Amino acid sequence: MDWPKGFDGLCYGGDYNPEQWPEEVWKEDVELMRRAGVNLVTVGVFSWARLEPSPGVHDLGWLDRVLDLLHAGGIRVDLATPTASPPPWFGLAHPDALTVTADGVRLTHGSRDTYCVSAPPYRDASVRIARTLAERYRDHPALAMWHVHNEYGTACHCDHVAAAFRTWLAGRHGTLDALNDAWTTSFWSQHYSAWEQVMPPRATQYLPNPSQTLDFRRFVSDAMLDHFRAQKAVLRELTLDVPVTTNFVFGDWVPVNQRHWAEEVDLVAIDHYPAADPPQETAFAADLARLWAGGGRGC
Ligand SMILES: [Zn+2]
Repeated sequence: MDWPKGFDGLCYGGDYNPEQWPEEVWKEDVELMRRAGVNLVTVGVFSWARLEPSPGVHDLGWLDRVLDLLHAGGIRVDLATPTASPPPWFGLAHPDALTVTADGVRLTHGSRDTYCVSAPPYRDASVRIARTLAERYRDHPALAMWHVHNEYGTACHCDHVAAAFRTWLAGRHGTLDALNDAWTTSFWSQHYSAWEQVMPPRATQYLPNPSQTLDFRRFVSDAMLDHFRAQKAVLRELTLDVPVTTNFVFGDWVPVNQRHWAEEVDLVAIDHYPAADPPQETAFAADLARLWAGGGRGC
C-alpha cells in the first residue's frame, strides 16, 4: 500500500478549505478544479472547531456535502484529521493540554498548532475525532487517503512533557549514572541525583546542555510519532484499504526525525514552499523525501 486509493498515476491538487468560504461558491470551486485537472484535494486540516463546535457535539453535515460535491466532480479526497488545531473550547476545558514554551509561558488559542502531544486529554481527544471521521467516511467513494494532523512541530515544555521525557530518558540511558555520563553533567554542577531533577530544556541562565537539548529533540520526535501512531491505529482499524500519512516539512525548526517516521507512514509526503524558500532548498527537500521513501514513488 503506497499510493492513494483509486489512483494509478499522477495526483494533482492541493489543500481545499471550503469552510473558509460561503457554501454558495463550493460548486464553482469544484468546477474550476475540474477544469484545471485537479483530481485530489486535502480537506479538513484545520476544521476541528467546525466539526466539533462544542465538546462531544459534532456537525459533519457540511463535510458530507463537500465530499459529495467533490466526488460528483471526479475529485478524490485526502481527508485530514484536524488535530493540528484544537478548538478554543478544548484549551479552556484542558489548559494542561496547551503548549508551554521554554520560557514557561502557557500559550492560548487564537492561532494554530497549540497543543501538547504528551497531555492525556489531547491524545484522547485526537483519537476520538479521528474515530468519528473514520466511522463517518469509511465507505465514502471520494476517500483516497488519510492526512493525519499537519506538519508536526509544536514542542511543549510542560510538566506532562517533563514526566514523559524522564520515562523516555530512562529507556534510552537505563540509569541516572549513564545519563549523567552521556550529558557530561560534571560540567557546571549539573549532576543529577534523582530523576525528578531532570527537566526539558527550559529557559536557563546561560548556554543549555547540548546533550540534553539533543535528547529532547529525539524525545519530541518520538512523542509526536506516538500521537501519529494512535490515530493511525484507529484509521487502519476502520479503513483497512486507505493509506495513512502525514505531511513532513523541511527545516531545522522541525523536531521530527523524518527518516525514522518514514517507516510508519504508508507513503512519504512533504510540503514545499517554493514562493518562500530558495529553489535549491526545495530541490534538496524533494531529494530527501525521495530518500525517506526508499527511493520509490513519493507524493
Ligand atoms: Zn505540554
